Amino acid sequence: MENRDIMEKIVSLCKRRGFIYQGSEIYGGLAGTWDYGPLGIALKRNIENLWWKRFVLDREDMYGMDAAILMNQEVWKASGHVGGFSDPLVEDLKTQKRYRADHLLEANNINPAGMTLADMDAVIKEKGITSPDGNQLGDVRQFNMMLKTTVGAVESDDNISYLRPETAQGMFVNFKNVVDSFHPKLPFGMAQIGKAFRNEIAPRDFIFRVRELEQMEIEYFVDPRDQESVNKIFDELFDDQMKFLKQDLGLSEHRIHKVDIDANDRAHYSARSVDTEFDFPFGQKELLGLAYRTDYDLNAHMNASGADLTYFDESTKERFVPHCIEPTFGLGRLILATLSDAYHEDEMDGESRVVLKLDPKVAPYICAVSPLLKNRPELQEKARAVFTMLKKKFGRVIYDDNGNVGKRYRRQDEIGTPFCIVVDFDTLGTGDNINPEWKDMVTVRDRDTGEQVRIAIDELINYFNDRI
Ligand code: ATP
Repeated sequence: MENRDIMEKIVSLCKRRGFIYQGSEIYGGLAGTWDYGPLGIALKRNIENLWWKRFVLDREDMYGMDAAILMNQEVWKASGHVGGFSDPLVEDLKTQKRYRADHLLEANNINPAGMTLADMDAVIKEKGITSPDGNQLGDVRQFNMMLKTTVGAVESDDNISYLRPETAQGMFVNFKNVVDSFHPKLPFGMAQIGKAFRNEIAPRDFIFRVRELEQMEIEYFVDPRDQESVNKIFDELFDDQMKFLKQDLGLSEHRIHKVDIDANDRAHYSARSVDTEFDFPFGQKELLGLAYRTDYDLNAHMNASGADLTYFDESTKERFVPHCIEPTFGLGRLILATLSDAYHEDEMDGESRVVLKLDPKVAPYICAVSPLLKNRPELQEKARAVFTMLKKKFGRVIYDDNGNVGKRYRRQDEIGTPFCIVVDFDTLGTGDNINPEWKDMVTVRDRDTGEQVRIAIDELINYFNDRI
């Protein structure tokens, strides 16, 4: 199957089964926005919670945050985003449609890595590269990607604000607050999950490149006087990123690639960057990043605001500006990686099926509970009792009594439910041809192997606890 076909199938499954819908769909949509339905938000929450647990709850050196999306415009001047957060754009002279110059070069098998605006311009002219519609292109220019708004009743330059293009700055401007409230010792980190907005010229590839996105970011502050330990911490944070992808999300190792970014291609603030790329159905692309931002941001805010953002080392009685290492994760891209890695088509019991082999930790539901037959009240009653017990404990449990058992399995396979429980006459201990040893036990069917085991109802909570 072509990879592009897989992508189409994933998008269609997401819509049909209630994971992800096009934003504002009944009005024809709004490009670069997507709405998460009941199963999508369940998957997203699980990923966020695993991240928060690994990077905040399980550590003593991490401080959680939730900063406002709207910030004083001076923040974005100081951070360099007003002046520099831009993409190289080129316009089709006939249709006036705009394209990313670097993307057009890539489409023409030219690697834009390390090229300046002038370099791109020169190559486009020299090779006679045209727009996708075959028309001549204008000059390559910078285009600022921040979404601008005004705050308050008066529209004036003083009231300009921006929908934040990254969550990071919310942490830098609260650095002093956290230091004053908690007196943390270096190294320590601040962590935040939240929305960010980028006016991408060409949103595409489903939730991969969007205009309203979610980031999970950490600003980890280190002592710059010991560069050996800074390097060690950088490597440890990279290892933590990998553990999150492999152990928490269950992503396939062979699809994950470490990419060292060379100096020309790094963001203006970074002294060392390592991106992690993933084999998405449309190619190997950036999933998350790790950047050594040095003291760039704290210095910039200190100079612009006048606030003292230094750190005082009690043991050496020295005062200095800490350096910062930033692990950043795009939540939407993690969701897409998880979905595309899990998507399989195979055959089971002589029938072809679509199955999402999601790790039980991230799957929207841990299990589905059903009675063998819908029209038997005694089976319904027992199945509902099992369901209520599990629902109370895990939340992520669904009751499904539609159609026959085979159809229910297919439906649950398609949304990635790892286990299906069936309550039958053996469970009740009534009827002909029953196995008396199976009383008060249920059938638990495994999504990936189709294997069925008989488990005592009293043991179910332990059984699932061991698997999530
Ligand atoms: P790209 O090169 O793909 O535009 P970037 O290098 O600009 O990404 P960063 O500024 O490092 O990205 O942002 C941190 C993370 O936020 C990225 O690793 C990615 O996961 C996510 N991200 C950035 N832009 C988008 C977007 N438009 N849509 C979805 N996720 C995004």
